[in-house]
Amino acid sequence: MSYKIGVIRGDGIGPEIVTEAVKVLDAIAEKYGHTFNYEEILMGGCSIDATGVPLTEEAIAQAKSSDAVLMGSIGGNTATSPWYKLAPELRPEAGLLKIRKALNLFANLRPAYLYEELKAACPLRDDIIGDGFDMMIMRELTGGLYFGERSTKEVDGVMTACDTLTYNEDEIRRIAKRGFDIAMKRRKKVTSVDKANVLDSSRLWRKVVEEVAKDYPEVTYEHMLVDNAAMQLVKDPKQFDVILTENMFGDILSDEASMVTGSIGMLSSASLNETKFGLYEPSGGSAPDIAGKGIANPIATILSAAMMLRYSFDLDAEADAIENAVKQVLKDGYRTIDIMPQEDDKKGQVTQVGTVQMGDLIVERL
Ligand code: NAD
Repeated sequence: MSYKIGVIRGDGIGPEIVTEAVKVLDAIAEKYGHTFNYEEILMGGCSIDATGVPLTEEAIAQAKSSDAVLMGSIGGNTATSPWYKLAPELRPEAGLLKIRKALNLFANLRPAYLYEELKAACPLRDDIIGDGFDMMIMRELTGGLYFGERSTKEVDGVMTACDTLTYNEDEIRRIAKRGFDIAMKRRKKVTSVDKANVLDSSRLWRKVVEEVAKDYPEVTYEHMLVDNAAMQLVKDPKQFDVILTENMFGDILSDEASMVTGSIGMLSSASLNETKFGLYEPSGGSAPDIAGKGIANPIATILSAAMMLRYSFDLDAEADAIENAVKQVLKDGYRTIDIMPQEDDKKGQVTQVGTVQMGDLIVERL
């Protein structure tokens, strides 16, 4: 099959880590007989330098005409970079918000997977970790509290701030369907997280999720209150497969879930719309502190490319091949600096490698 992939290299370590992900995709194309055509798209600081704005209309059109977009990361050192002396709507991150909106990317997916070899980085006790965990946080990204009407004004002489949490049933249905679709590709369990004992928006959320669940008889589902979900994530993370939730709860729970896996350099993510289109990027930022040093961990971006194959192109075997190659590299004892063991006695048991070498080692194991 032939696919057009938009490539946003971005700033900082972005170009370095994307190069490795493209290298892995090229190896997959050769092995499985696909054609990946890449189109470079400017976004972030590099776009500001070239065009004066973080994302041009032309760049949006390029992204829209792609089957999927693979992204590195954007932004610079927020204290020292001249990009942050610009007005907020002209700064690098404004490009990211604009592209999410322009492409209607309402579903955010963040896997939290604990690799056997990186267990030491998990802050949870061994008896809680057990054989590890593997969950997917499915967060609604374009509605709820962050997008509702807000105001700060004086009411009866007292300063009063107001934020509004609104969801309509269509917004809930489309993300719920996405959640159940993803569960069908995994262990077929959905935990829908809400605060239905207090919030009307959550009661509607629960009702719509129950309606959607009827179309997925193979998927087991349950409802969980958000306060309990926050506890369960650190008490028994193994119980979760897909966690389906609204914007603010997902914002908080996805960070909690990623924290228990260890390094930011391992965490992939995807933002999807109603079609098969998605924007795939590592969860971390542009890491200006290590940019250009050749030491950044490319695994999160490589795993984001695997997500692209699985969720936008339905190439499950190819995605499995990448994920297994990453597991094998870790098993074989190779680490980038961010996932090196902290203890001196364990450092001798692994080999530290740079960005390019890590990409090569993964390609060798495909
Ligand atoms: P960051 O994620 O870039 O860095 C935090 C720490 O993690 C740093 O020490 C960094 O070296 C390390 N790190 C991150 N990715 C790594 C990798 N792949 N390998 C090894 N180490 C890695 O967060 P920050 O420093 O708060 O932000 C830097 C810039 O990135 C800012 O301009 C911020 O706005 C931007 N940012 C962009 C995105 C995005 O593009 N989606 C996301 C978050 C932050």
